Parts: sequence; C-alpha cells; structure tokens
Amino acid sequence: MDLLKAKIQEEGKVLSESVLKVDSFLNHQIDPVLMQEIGKEFATKFSNKGITKILTIESSGIAPATMTGLEIGVPVIFARKKKSLTLTDHLYSAEVYSFTKREANEISVSKDFITSNDVVLLMDDFLANGQAALGLINIAEQAGAKIAGVGIVIEKGFQKGSDQIRKRGYGVESLAIIESLADGRVTFKEEVVSL
Ligand code: 5GP
Repeated sequence: MDLLKAKIQEEGKVLSESVLKVDSFLNHQIDPVLMQEIGKEFATKFSNKGITKILTIESSGIAPATMTGLEIGVPVIFARKKKSLTLTDHLYSAEVYSFTKREANEISVSKDFITSNDVVLLMDDFLANGQAALGLINIAEQAGAKIAGVGIVIEKGFQKGSDQIRKRGYGVESLAIIESLADGRVTFKEEVVSL
C-alpha cells in the first residue's frame, strides 16, 4: 500500500535494527484519513470471506480494525490486556509475550462477543514474532469460530511472525512488509506483481 509506505518513510523512526516507531500516525497520534484507506484496503483483501466479526488487541490495533469494520459492516472486538472488574470469569484468555516490552500479558475476550457461528478476521498494527496474533488465534479457536485470516498493517518480514501464523494454517495479509531496518533506514520487501 503506497500511501502507507510513503508515510512510514516520511515519519517512521528507526529505533534499532528491529524496532520502528510510528507514533505520529498509528501508535499514539492517529491519522484518520490513512486509517480509512487502510480499512478500505483490508475490506478489499478480505472480501468474499463472509466475515462476521473483527478481533484485534488493545490499543494500537483498534484504529485500523475499527475502520475495517466500518468498511465491511461488522462489529470490532478488542482483546483486553488487563482484566476489568466488569469482565469476570465469562472469558476466553490467552498468554501473550511481548518482546518489545519484555513481559507476558494475559489477554481476554468476553464469551458474549465471539461464538462458533462467527467468521473472524484477526488484526493488529505490527507483526514481529507473532505472539499477539497467535494469542488472538488461540482465543478465536477456543470460541470455535472460523478464522478468515490475519490482517496486519506493518509486518517486519525479517522476524518470524508470518511463518508462525502460516504454520498454524492461516493466511496473512500485510499492507507494508519491511525487509530491513539496518543502517537506520526502512527497506520494504519488493512486491511481486502477478500479471
Ligand atoms: P509480536 O507479538 O508479533 O511479536 O509483536 C507484535 C506486537 O508488538 C504489536 O502488537 C506491536 O504493538 C508490538 N511491536 C512489535 N514490533 C514493533 C515495532 O517495531 N514497532 C512498534 N511500534 N510496535 C511493535
């Protein structure tokens, strides 16, 4: 997605060879126009899959997932990282280890919002080692829902997340795939255009 790649080149900050900061449009301040375009792109990529719900993880997955839900016309659920007092034992939970924060979080979703009748699109802002996405897969599987695939805004292609998800039998669609963050520069993976 050219608009997203241009935004990453203009505003992304390479913090190290493995971490990209995109606080100005995705992770802190949000660019609603870009999010709307992202929503349209995912709606096109996952059309004809019969999606009934989108499942993401708080907080940075919520903006792109909401715009995608608006385009497809389905509700959006975000897995919570902290159990709220009103979310009690009526929950699906999974353990997610964060490499960026170096801590494990339990994520939870109320059993009210995903059932075995649902076809779920799983989404997140970044894909690195795949822990967050695997946690969402775990929750959707516990609910007995069908998984339509995984939609990612920015994938770091040099980490193993996408392989992990494919090994579990699910497809991944990423709008920008970063091949390298070496030398303080963002290099994208070349897109193979099939004629
Ligand atoms: P994974 O679970 O795939 O290892 O990591 C994905 C999660 O970690 C995302 O939800 C995202 O919040 C965070 N993350 C991983 N790598 C990066 C990165 O390079 N930049 C930012 N901003 N977040 C990242």
